[in-house]
Amino acid sequence: MLPFLRLLFSALLAAAIMFSVVNLSESDDYLTQRINILNSDNTLFAGGKLNLSDKELVVNELILKEKKAELTEAHQNVSNFLPSRHFFQARPDIEKSNVFSIIKKLPKGASLHTHLTAAVSADFMIENITYKENIYGCFINGIFKLRFLGNADDDKTCDWKELKKYREEDPNFDQWLKKQMSLEVDNPLDVYPSIDVIWQRFKKIFSTAYDMVCYKPVFKEYIYQLLKELYEDNVMYTELRGTFMPLYDLNGTVYDTKEFFNVFIETVEEFKQDHPRFLGARYIHSIYRGVTPEVLKSGLDELITLKKLYPQFIAGFDFVGYEEEGRPIVEFHKVLLEASEELKFFFHAGETNWYGSTDLNLIDAVLLNSSRIGHAFALSRHPILMHLVKAKDIAIELCPISNQVLMLNEDPRTHPAISLLAKDFPVVISNDDPSAWGASGLSYDWYVAFLAMTPVDVGIEVLKKFAMDSIRYSAMNDDEKDTALEKWSLDWQIFLEDMLK
Ligand SMILES: [Zn+2]
Repeated sequence: MLPFLRLLFSALLAAAIMFSVVNLSESDDYLTQRINILNSDNTLFAGGKLNLSDKELVVNELILKEKKAELTEAHQNVSNFLPSRHFFQARPDIEKSNVFSIIKKLPKGASLHTHLTAAVSADFMIENITYKENIYGCFINGIFKLRFLGNADDDKTCDWKELKKYREEDPNFDQWLKKQMSLEVDNPLDVYPSIDVIWQRFKKIFSTAYDMVCYKPVFKEYIYQLLKELYEDNVMYTELRGTFMPLYDLNGTVYDTKEFFNVFIETVEEFKQDHPRFLGARYIHSIYRGVTPEVLKSGLDELITLKKLYPQFIAGFDFVGYEEEGRPIVEFHKVLLEASEELKFFFHAGETNWYGSTDLNLIDAVLLNSSRIGHAFALSRHPILMHLVKAKDIAIELCPISNQVLMLNEDPRTHPAISLLAKDFPVVISNDDPSAWGASGLSYDWYVAFLAMTPVDVGIEVLKKFAMDSIRYSAMNDDEKDTALEKWSLDWQIFLEDMLK
């Protein structure tokens, strides 16, 4: 059967099932039919088809009790509803929420959409990295840059000054430095009046710490800390989007890309040895979406060569950058089709509010068989694409806090991915660039999704589905996924026991 016909058939089948569900229990009793519709809706919702054990049913009562308490308070005064408040302002209160503390304890599986250079909390970087010896700072093109230097006089790119001296001159230097590395401000809606303004700022915050993190000993420490922040949030595996970072030493040696991978992989292995419950990490290579097709081609050729050297570690390819400013994916389709023989794709696509322009990247993501799609914010406007995504079993990486901070969606209760969850599309909750907004781990995004994007009566089943889908839709192979699901099940049982105490 042609894929489109198969699709149409499955859509008709779904409609027929829905119809029969309502009619099966046909009754003159209006209220019974009403309940039947609601039950059918809840069964269709993500996780609604999972069978829950006795223990899970008891824990579900506890979770729903807390969820309903927070929702009831919010119904009385919507300004109390934490997911709808700006994350910068809501975060301290989210940390006091009972639902949040349950979610923190819950084994969440995998974190599949995180950018390497925005994945370690700024506080850790300031307290543990910027107090090391040999670290300097300087403004280059209006951006404050940090760098380790053996001898600052040898580097003529800037008039470098030791951070020690900055601190002597300004007792509030650390607070100022943190602001250079983060989007956080007290009054976000005034400082960032539009999506363009926040993206201009967003692009800059990565630059401040970039050279500092490329210092080889710091890079190791950075990766270790990144995994630790996930692990402490009960995440057991991650896939990180990044670019090749040119590691260097104080004596001026700059290492090649192989060294970047060797140090990266070695650090992941060390972390696994120290934390046997942690399963590992993979790398998704990113290239800026504004390059020419020729530059993309040479970048992908290099990636394909490296993938042969690190076949397990390199999961595939994605575009990075502000989608409105980049070239449409269709301009690259020939190069990408050629590379698709050797590489899997994990495209950011449809991270937009425009209709009929930038969102059309979603068509390319689907046609190019993207394994997952980052954001897919505009997907629910394209019914045929929605069917294709479902039929091709492509998971959506949902990053609700990113979408709020980067001004795609102010209130997650109106997030378009709710309609995907309602139809049981595979969705993996992701954190995107947590350090840019003072988050770490996955719990904040899980909290927002659970409280604002799922119905009041939906509890543990959707949380379980999120966790299991994060493993199922990862780039692990089938055996690894089985092992991961087994390990996750053990952690899940421990979580249930803990909740029952
Ligand atoms: Zn992203």
